[in-house]
Amino acid sequence: MMFQKIRYRLFLSNLLVLALVLSSSAFVVRILFIRNLKQQLTERLIAVAQGIAASSELEHGQLELQTKFSPQQLRAHQQVFQWFDTQKRLIEQQGDPNYAPTLPFNAERTVQTQSDKIKLLIVTLPIVENNSRRLIGHIRLSESLEEIDETIARLDVGLAAGAFVALFLSGLGSGWLNRQAMQPIEESFKRLKQFTADASHELRSPLMAISTNAEVALTYSDGMRKSDGEKFQAISMATDQMSQLTEDLLLLTRADKVSSFESKKIDLTTLLIGSVNLYRPQAQTKQIELKAEIENDLCLIGDEAKLARAFTNLIQNAIQYTPANGEVEVTGNRIGQELLVNIEDTGIGIASEHLDLVFDRLWRADRSRSYYKGGSGLGLAITQAIIYSHKGTITVTSQVDIGSCFTVSLPMAFTN
Ligand code: ADP
Repeated sequence: MMFQKIRYRLFLSNLLVLALVLSSSAFVVRILFIRNLKQQLTERLIAVAQGIAASSELEHGQLELQTKFSPQQLRAHQQVFQWFDTQKRLIEQQGDPNYAPTLPFNAERTVQTQSDKIKLLIVTLPIVENNSRRLIGHIRLSESLEEIDETIARLDVGLAAGAFVALFLSGLGSGWLNRQAMQPIEESFKRLKQFTADASHELRSPLMAISTNAEVALTYSDGMRKSDGEKFQAISMATDQMSQLTEDLLLLTRADKVSSFESKKIDLTTLLIGSVNLYRPQAQTKQIELKAEIENDLCLIGDEAKLARAFTNLIQNAIQYTPANGEVEVTGNRIGQELLVNIEDTGIGIASEHLDLVFDRLWRADRSRSYYKGGSGLGLAITQAIIYSHKGTITVTSQVDIGSCFTVSLPMAFTN
């Protein structure tokens, strides 16, 4: 589950990076291609205009044009020729008048683009008489950019299709690569888990031996020095703590294996009331008001011992992290097909930046809270693992110095 999430995130970020790379390179290709197309067209128009300018001359004070173009040729390229005299008056025009430039004549600018309704590229060149090198007029040649626009549209479709195919193929590729890369990590995680389970399991018997020996020694304490008795007591307590820790580790490493869970019908109402009652003495000692408001007949299928462990963890934490004169309230309700249990306290709370971490294994809030002794930091990890294995969810909301609220939601009918 954890690895699946990482894999999914890796896959998405790979795809995002690739999409960015592809789209920016497509963008650059597009810009270069368009610039190239326009440059080619400009060069072609200038060459044609130069040819016409060279073959035009002045006869009897009139501009004489040697070149005549066939209308088909002009129409094919949607070209329009215009001749202007030295006073910038239009003398003659050839080509489809619909495509005639509407921009005012400007002898200064050789290349212009008109981006009105009809987009045109316009080239304006002077006509100089061969012998006298005298300016005798201007030629203006324009061509519609429609053809180029069509080519660009085709290019866009091509680029989009190419990017799509590339993205699809690299999606497949990155999925495969991610799986390859994650496999050793997953395996080593599995090995680590197995090692934890084995080590916890192996530690059970020696711990049990220490514990029984200490207890035997304490039972037959006649003739034992008082200070020795205290040492045996300390050994016994520490051993109990370690046994609890190894049991917790074992439970955590096995939590994913639902098979190790019992599945039978449980009365959650009785379970919750029992758990609350278990902590009444502790709450009373701390002068904490422990309230319970639990609906009747909350039933579900699951592992009773494990669920009891989960809820007692939460109630214990609530009492532990609530100062004297505080309040802890446990509520249980049925909403649709869900059973909702809230454990709310008026305790020290959890900083918002720590909220995501409380369920991590061995995580404990800052050491300044060390006066709230005890606990290993495994409690909430275990609680979460138990709730998840019952297909439920656990969430927490909290405010520092105001209190925390843990909400558990469990499906009524949980099936493996
Ligand atoms: P621990 O054994 O330390 O209680 P847990 O896994 O049960 O370990 O909790 C992890 C940490 O979350 C605790 O050390 C504590 O800082 C914080 N925490 C848990 N429950 C509460 C609560 N009800 N109020 C404030 N802090 C809490």
